[in-house]
Amino acid sequence: MDLYVTRMKKIVLSLLPLYIFSTFTLADENLETEAVQLLQAYLQVDTTNPPGNESRAVNFLAKIFDEEGIQYNSAESAPGRGNIWARIKGGNKPAIILLHHSDVVPANEEYWDFDPLSGEIVDGYIQGRGALDMKGLGISHLANFLRLHRLNKELNRDVIFIAAADEESGGKYGMGWLIENRPEAFEGAALLLNEGGSGYRSKDGITFSVEVTQKIPVWLRLNSVDQPGHGSSPRTTSSVSRIVEALNIIWNSPFDPRIIPEVEKVFADRSESLDEPFKSKYKNIKSSIQDPVFMKELQEVSPSSHALTRNTCSLTRMNGSIKINVVPPTAWAEIDCRILPDNKPEEFIAKIKDLIKHTEVEVEPLMIGFPGSSPIDSELYLTIERFIKSNYPGSKLSPTVSTGFTDSRFSRGIGIASYGFNTYIYEGNESSGIHGNNEQINEKRFRQSVGDLSLILDDVVYD
Ligand SMILES: [Zn+2]
Repeated sequence: MDLYVTRMKKIVLSLLPLYIFSTFTLADENLETEAVQLLQAYLQVDTTNPPGNESRAVNFLAKIFDEEGIQYNSAESAPGRGNIWARIKGGNKPAIILLHHSDVVPANEEYWDFDPLSGEIVDGYIQGRGALDMKGLGISHLANFLRLHRLNKELNRDVIFIAAADEESGGKYGMGWLIENRPEAFEGAALLLNEGGSGYRSKDGITFSVEVTQKIPVWLRLNSVDQPGHGSSPRTTSSVSRIVEALNIIWNSPFDPRIIPEVEKVFADRSESLDEPFKSKYKNIKSSIQDPVFMKELQEVSPSSHALTRNTCSLTRMNGSIKINVVPPTAWAEIDCRILPDNKPEEFIAKIKDLIKHTEVEVEPLMIGFPGSSPIDSELYLTIERFIKSNYPGSKLSPTVSTGFTDSRFSRGIGIASYGFNTYIYEGNESSGIHGNNEQINEKRFRQSVGDLSLILDDVVYD
């Protein structure tokens, strides 16, 4: 009897890898072709932000939903700033959201070799602003959403598609507005896929990154007031001298380095591809940050890695007099601070106020993000991990921390485990097109990414 059970166990166990493998091998060529055509058309919709005009994207998507018989909702947060969302009903498990932003950053045509609104395919690349950031991923979401609707198979959870406005200018008219004004769009959701991570093929193989948390933006304006006068007769202080002093203090008071667990993992992963002495320094990042020489080197070699080790402030804007010989009554500056995701923005602002107190410069918050990070043991993260192990054996998967921000900070703020992940695999310096010139996506690898996403989603939405 015992022997029989052991044998049965062996058979079941030997079938298990096959089973896991088979759950991730069903791609649909027609779907991929449809996705390519949809992306070409979506790239031709001008949603350059500013001004945005995302209602054009809403019209584009609404037409597709109408044709498919999919119910949807849409709302403008301001004239022309449209948002659209749709839901396919499923079982009781917590819903999953496929989120993308429909706006794109401006393109300086002078430096482009093709029309940023072209959507044409040339030499195997689909061309246009937004191909990578992030209409490509948006269409991958859409194609898969349409597919789930058409299959009409019982889902174990609701699947929600959202195209939000305004991400490129901070999300105030997009996700920020939706969460405040249309909370029903997020009802029952606990998982979310968004931009922020992807695959990358280097000479050492493929590395996939899943963004699980990000630094919190704290954008501040410093305002000062003092006696105005003639430029020929300076007083002991002025509105401008106060601002300059405050900026000096902030610039010369680096915040203490501190390593959060997510960042420790990022450095450990990166250490593997480095040579000594950086290899050991990265591996032991918690002790390395005590060494000021290393910290200076790190900032010189990789400002973005350095920014993961502490809170930062970049001095970015300032304004004084409109005339060279007039001492102005007021002056201001703006600073772009980013704090670690476990910090409290209010406490950080209080610290800044305290630092510059004696200058009498006032601190005005302009935009504050939400703290939050997503666990690496959720159903979605584990599915991504299993998929990569099974379909890209030998490749690496790392959770990452972003120094920038995405709309995920809004969804993390309401407790939705949000992951920055695109199945697209970058090669070479392709990503330089993001916010840069000649943005384009490789057609073959885009097709693959659409198919790969469908395999991951199937695993999450079907029992
Ligand atoms: Zn983006």
